[in-house]
Amino acid sequence: MRRIKKKKREKNLVAIVVSFVGGFYICDDCKLRYSDKKMAQKCERWCLAYHSCNLEITKHAIK
Ligand SMILES: [Zn+2]
Repeated sequence: MRRIKKKKREKNLVAIVVSFVGGFYICDDCKLRYSDKKMAQKCERWCLAYHSCNLEITKHAIK
């Protein structure tokens, strides 16, 4: 019980630190650039959780 509670708390504390550089939102983990802040946040959340790239997200990245 206690363990689950702690895990939930940590999850909520995870800071999504999408940076805004040169007109683009950048995932702080994989450094991909997005024109949409929500996509960048999605990417960063995914990167932090799975340490891999989600094609559904990265296809929105700007190359
Ligand atoms: Zn990412």
